[in-house]
Amino acid sequence: MPMPMSKVRPSTVLVRPAVAATPTATKMVTKTESQNILKPSSKTASESALFERTSRRELLNDAKPFSDFLTDTFHRQHDYLRISLTERCNLRCVYCMPEEGVPLSPQRELLTTPEIIMLSSLFVSQGVTKIRLTGGEPTVRRDILPLMRQIGALRSRGLRELCLTTNGLALHRKLEDMVDAGLTGINLSLDTLDPWQFQIMTRRKGFDAVMKSIERVLELNTHGAGIKLKINSVVMRGTNDREIMKFVEMTREKGIEVRFIEYMPFDGNKWNKGKMFSYSEMLHLIKEKYPQLERVKGHKNETSKTFKIPGFAGSLGFITSMTHNFCGTCNRLRITSDGNLKVCLFGNAEVSLRDILRKCNNGEPIDESTFEVMKQVGMHTKPGLTNGSVQSGLAPNEQELLDVIGLAVKRKKAKHAGIGELEHMKNRPMILIESGAAHMVSISDKTPSKRVAKAICSVQFTDMIACRLIQENQIQKGDVLGVARVAGIMAAKKTSDLIPLCHPIALSKVTVNLQIIQDQDDTGRVDIEAIVACEGKTGVEMEALTAASTAALTIYDMCKAVDKRMTIEGLKVVLKEGGKSGRWVDGVQDSSPTLQ
Ligand code: SAM
Ligand code: SF4
Repeated sequence: MPMPMSKVRPSTVLVRPAVAATPTATKMVTKTESQNILKPSSKTASESALFERTSRRELLNDAKPFSDFLTDTFHRQHDYLRISLTERCNLRCVYCMPEEGVPLSPQRELLTTPEIIMLSSLFVSQGVTKIRLTGGEPTVRRDILPLMRQIGALRSRGLRELCLTTNGLALHRKLEDMVDAGLTGINLSLDTLDPWQFQIMTRRKGFDAVMKSIERVLELNTHGAGIKLKINSVVMRGTNDREIMKFVEMTREKGIEVRFIEYMPFDGNKWNKGKMFSYSEMLHLIKEKYPQLERVKGHKNETSKTFKIPGFAGSLGFITSMTHNFCGTCNRLRITSDGNLKVCLFGNAEVSLRDILRKCNNGEPIDESTFEVMKQVGMHTKPGLTNGSVQSGLAPNEQELLDVIGLAVKRKKAKHAGIGELEHMKNRPMILIESGAAHMVSISDKTPSKRVAKAICSVQFTDMIACRLIQENQIQKGDVLGVARVAGIMAAKKTSDLIPLCHPIALSKVTVNLQIIQDQDDTGRVDIEAIVACEGKTGVEMEALTAASTAALTIYDMCKAVDKRMTIEGLKVVLKEGGKSGRWVDGVQDSSPTLQ
């Protein structure tokens, strides 16, 4: 996007001081002063003239005031904002989402379109020049087009790039309208060029639709659309690493950048260090065939290392979050779909901008009509901001928002954890980092029904001694089966206290059955079966699992003096009844009569 001329003042320019210390640190100097600072003394006249022209152009290009609120203590200026539009997705990529999807937030907790516009506008007023829309899958947000049109309109206020990260499944249907709205760049995720492998990696069909989107972008570009297209491919050892060279070949004729991403650890993606295929391994592989592969100097804030094979139309990039961090030049901030500001992808610190924004609406979501009223009022009352920058004028409490944003940015660390720490760190899966916090699923719209769940597990001993002692009630700590039964029942009732996203449920019945079994190899075990019932709006599988596992832990605790190598095995739900999905036995739908 071209630099809006309104930002460039003919006689004064704003230059950023080397150390931006306070919100008022942006210093205004005259153009003559700034040229004097930069003018070299030992140049020839023509060199000086050239230098002067370049410096002037650079200064003019740089002339936009950059907010101290968005500058951290390491002088990193955050002019790139990623906004998540949704937690939903139409794919279930194995490295990103569990098969059943992620728990979705109640609608009222998510940012409304006016709220996203208000925040975008505020960030652009402070110097953000690039906004990327992501998710979940941003194209599944119903109002994505009007939203993009309104963000696109911020070009007149300094926004230069409006980008989208998408899986490409629905993109081809909306692409032209998006380009009309101001879309300038697309990062399209595609991990395989094989339709079958696509179905395995994304757990859904749709390879052809994604390829159609890619072709459509390239076709629009031949008509001058100028969309920067990058293909993002997460490489997993033993899954799609053998396709690296196929992706490399894609760049021979097509003017696209293929970026290989190192697989990253997040809670719930079954992180396995062995599955990570590192940047250096990829480079080695590609260089075996193309030794002439050469490094291309990228933009200073580039998170990927760019390479080119001479003669190829496109280029290759590597996103090396696991093996080489790029924190030193990080210029990005993230807003999750529930309105939290996240200053680092790998950090846990978040602050709710949504809650501050909604203060002016009694804590309620700001919808279109409220937004209209706010715009009318805002036109008449525009207080200045403490750093003297132009306010966006949309949110009435912009100063408070900026103070909170400024504090969060100032707390940003120099760099994120390294690979050893990352794999052990508690963090949201990628989809929730970009989209929103973990939360309970809303059950307010569900109708109550009779629900039952049965879970089982076993305590496996290494011989029969413990079993005999239990049977004869000879264990020093007392009646093992009796105590385990009570512990299981009590634990079922406490499930919501233990598992953060579980709803508290009034249970109508909990039964814990325990049976001592002698195995053929002369070892013994206690089989545990927990059956939980309720009349309610949500299932009781978690309660059954909690009951069975707690009964097992109790047996473990009471018998550990007798058998130090016993194990707890086979915890699973074997039956579920009630609710919309009906009766399930061992994970398969079943039509036989119900238990209760
Ligand atoms: N749905 C969109 C997409 O797939 O492009 C946008 C959201 S997705 C969470 C953003 C990016 O994160 C994608 O490029 C995806 O490949 C990447 N990603 C998700 N989980 C990852 C993981 N565990 N390791 C590396 N990259 C991951
Ligand atoms: Fe969906 Fe993107 Fe995650 Fe795949 S990577 S599941 S497309 S959000």
